[in-house]
Amino acid sequence: MSTLDPADWSALRALGHKMLDDMVDHLAGLRDGPVWRPMPGVVRQGFTAPLPSQGAAPEVLYGRFQAEIQPYITGNLHPRFMGWVHGGGNPVSMLAELLAGAMNANCGGRDHAGIAVERQVIAWAAEMLGMPPETSGVLLTGSSMANFVAVLCARYKALGQAGRQNGAGGAKLTAYASAGVHRCVPGALDMAGLGSNALRRIPVDANFQMDIAALREAIAADKAAGRTPFLIVGTAGTVDVGAFDNLGVLADIAAAENAWFHVDGAFGALAALSSTLKPATAGIERADSVAFDFHKWAQVTYDAGCVLVRDPAMQLATFAQATSYLAAAPRGLAAGAPWPCDLGPDLSRGFRALKVWMTLSAYGSAALGGIVDDTCTLAQRLAAQIKASPKLELLAPVKLNIVCFGVAGFTDTQTADLVADLQEEGLFAPSTTIINGRLAIRAAIVNHRTLPEDIDALVTEILRRV
Ligand SMILES: *Cc1c(COP(=O)(O)O)cnc(C)c1O
Repeated sequence: MSTLDPADWSALRALGHKMLDDMVDHLAGLRDGPVWRPMPGVVRQGFTAPLPSQGAAPEVLYGRFQAEIQPYITGNLHPRFMGWVHGGGNPVSMLAELLAGAMNANCGGRDHAGIAVERQVIAWAAEMLGMPPETSGVLLTGSSMANFVAVLCARYKALGQAGRQNGAGGAKLTAYASAGVHRCVPGALDMAGLGSNALRRIPVDANFQMDIAALREAIAADKAAGRTPFLIVGTAGTVDVGAFDNLGVLADIAAAENAWFHVDGAFGALAALSSTLKPATAGIERADSVAFDFHKWAQVTYDAGCVLVRDPAMQLATFAQATSYLAAAPRGLAAGAPWPCDLGPDLSRGFRALKVWMTLSAYGSAALGGIVDDTCTLAQRLAAQIKASPKLELLAPVKLNIVCFGVAGFTDTQTADLVADLQEEGLFAPSTTIINGRLAIRAAIVNHRTLPEDIDALVTEILRRV
C-alpha cells in the first residue's frame, strides 16, 4: 500500500508556508512588476514533456512554478490590466481556495456544509438583484455556462419533458437578443441543439440598447412564419461598451409572448450593488433567469459564475434525472435534496461557494458596490481626458466602466500595433474591439487596484507614442 501523504509532514508544511509567504508578497508587490510578459519559446517548450512516470519533489515543482509559470500568467491582478472584462481577484478569495482545496469537497450533492454555503451564496445573489427569496440557482464556471443553463430552462418551458427526451424535434423556436450580445448566447443555443441561427440579433440604437420596435417586428415576423418566440435575452452590461438593455420593457414583451425572459448580466448585474448605478439594472428582478459572474466585478478568484432561476421547480425539472445510485434519502449523508447536480449539468463539482461566501462576507456588499462605483468613476476620468485631447477620439458613450476610443487618423493596423506594444512592453493591457466598423482601443476598468494615476499614465503613454 502506498499513500500520497508524506510520512513526515514537516517538509511539506515548510514548503506550504513558503508558498503562502511568497504569494502574499506577490499580491503586495503587483504594482512593481510588468502587467504581462510574453512566454519565451524555451519556457513554453517545458510544457510539451511526456507524462512523467516517476515523481519529482514538490520543492522542485515549486521552483518551476516560480520560474516558468508565475511570470507568464495573464496579468489581470495588475492595476494596469484593462483588457476584456477580467476581475482582479482578492487575497481572502486566494486563502479560501487553499481551504477549499484542503476540504476537497464534492459539491454535486449529499448533505454537508459545502451545499449550505452555496445555498447561502445563491440567496445573497437573489437578494442583491431583488429576486424572490425562493429563487434557486447554482454556481458554475462562468456566465457562458450560466447562459447555457438558462437557455435549457427556457427550452424546458417551451417543450417540457418531451424536449428533454426527444430534442427540439420539428419545433421552430426563436430567441432574441441585442446585436451586442455576447458570443456565448448563440453558443448556448447551439449547445442546446436549437442552432445558433435560432437567435435573432436585434439592432441597437445610439445608446447601444436593443431597438424595441425592431424587436417587436422580428417577433411578429417569426410568428407569421410559424415560428415560436421562446426566449428574450436582455443584456445588462454588453461586453463591448457596457450598455444595458431596457430590461423592464423586455420583461413586458416576454410576458406578453409567454417567452422566457433571461438576463445576461455577466458583469453588469453587479451594478445592482451600487446605489448610483442600480437604476440601470431596473427590470432584472423580473427575469426568469439571470447569468452573472462573481469573478469579474465582484473580484472573486477564477472561476465563479452563477445562474439564478426564479422558479425553482423549473430549474429542477430542466436537469433532474432519476438514478437509483444518486437517490436522495430522508436522512444520513444522502439527505438534503435537491442537490446542485439536479440544477445544472455538472455532477461532481468543487467548493466554489467557499471563496464567494468568504469574499462577500469579508468585504460586504457596500464595499464591493463601492468598487463598482470607483471603476465607473475611473472610466469617466479616462473619457474626459480622451475628449480633452485633439489626438484621441471617444468611440462609444461611457455608461459604465468600459471606454472605447481611438487615435485620430490611425488605421486599424496602427491601433492593433499600439495595443500589442503596450501589452508586450508590460506597461498596460487594454484590449480591442470593433465599434461601428472601426478597431477601437478598449479599456475595461474592473480591477479594484486601479487608481486615477493609472488612468492618467495610460493616456500619457499613448499620447507619447502617437
Ligand atoms: C464575460 C461575459 C460573458 C461570459 O462569461 P464567462 O464568465 O467568461 O463565461 C457573457 N456575457 C457577457 C456580457 C460577458 O461580459
